[in-house]
Amino acid sequence: PETITVGELANRMAERGADLVKALFKMGMPVTVNQSIDQDTAELLVTEFGHNIKRVSDSDVDLITSDDVDAAETLQPRPPVVTIMGHVDHGKTSLLDALRGTDVASGEAGGITQHIGAYQVQVKSGAKITFLDTPGHEAFSEMRARGANITDIVVIVVAGDDGLRPQTIEAISHTRAAGVPMIIAINKMDKPGSNAQRVREALLQHDVQVESMGGDVQEVEVSALKKTGLDELIEKIELQAELLELKANPDRAAEGTVVEATLDKGRGAVATILVGRGTLKVGDIFVVGAESGKVRALIDDKGRNIKEAGPSLPVEILGLSGVPSAGDQLSVVENEARAREVAAYRAGVIHQKRTTAAPASLESMFSALR
Ligand code: GDP
Ligand code: MG
Repeated sequence: PETITVGELANRMAERGADLVKALFKMGMPVTVNQSIDQDTAELLVTEFGHNIKRVSDSDVDLITSDDVDAAETLQPRPPVVTIMGHVDHGKTSLLDALRGTDVASGEAGGITQHIGAYQVQVKSGAKITFLDTPGHEAFSEMRARGANITDIVVIVVAGDDGLRPQTIEAISHTRAAGVPMIIAINKMDKPGSNAQRVREALLQHDVQVESMGGDVQEVEVSALKKTGLDELIEKIELQAELLELKANPDRAAEGTVVEATLDKGRGAVATILVGRGTLKVGDIFVVGAESGKVRALIDDKGRNIKEAGPSLPVEILGLSGVPSAGDQLSVVENEARAREVAAYRAGVIHQKRTTAAPASLESMFSALR
């Protein structure tokens, strides 16, 4: 075929469609994810992303980029990754907990929920949705902006009794900047002081036009406390996800992103990885940020040991040489020598960036590392 849609190319590159749209815009081509581009443009885009994102060293670009673009026939549907954002105390954590409670796969007995910054639920329709918790504190607005980079859809929580607040507006602008579709969840509708209409009107002031106001941003009234509106929220997420036609190649060396990482007293360095494409397996040798390792164990969000993790599945990994940073990219490599080499190179880059380019934003530092 001489043309390919931007969305399809994004799936094959395991990048977000919005990122490709942004790159094309910079190249003077305003298109949407559903539009087609010609082969030359597609190749240019691949080089552009390959160069900026996967390059490992000046002399050695190939090893990680060689199979960067997945053939169309290797792609399979993957669950959407949804991030919940909003002002403090508007109910993000409560909503995440409530949504987690809708998981039909976890069952009554197996309700052990360990704290992990990401989890996946199976909804009534049988579909799966991955939810991400936003990094804890508002000081790290940049981290949050990066959080939006691995997310397909953002749910913005607004407390119906409190309305739009600074972090709500910040979340809206981050979501816009990331080019990710948003769904507005007006929360705390059980509270007598809640007024959804006031929220809709305030949103309009910030150029967010929800469906009931004639716009195309999906909205839903919920109560995380009383667990109302959750099914509707899930339906809207599914609808949005369908439009995005999210796919990835599960049958390749895994790549993923660190959602969070800590040093655990008993288990050593532990990182939660969200697999982007490929399948991460016990025994795999990997590089993650400036660290490397061999997967000693994979633990899912229900605390179970699993053997492998495919696209969009968040999973804890053990077997790291040290603690990576949230946002670091994980790539499975062919052997340990290669892992050390890539990790050492990345450590050098990190060091150099830290000592020379002081004012560089976290965002640019990390995009250079990817
Ligand atoms: P976060 O800071 O956005 O994560 O907000 P939390 O989930 O911690 O919620 C902040 C407070 O609002 C807590 O006291 C919750 O119990 C309360 N809350 C959250 N959702 C609801 C809701 O739907 N209704 C009511 N009445 N209270 C809620
Ligand atoms: Mg919270």
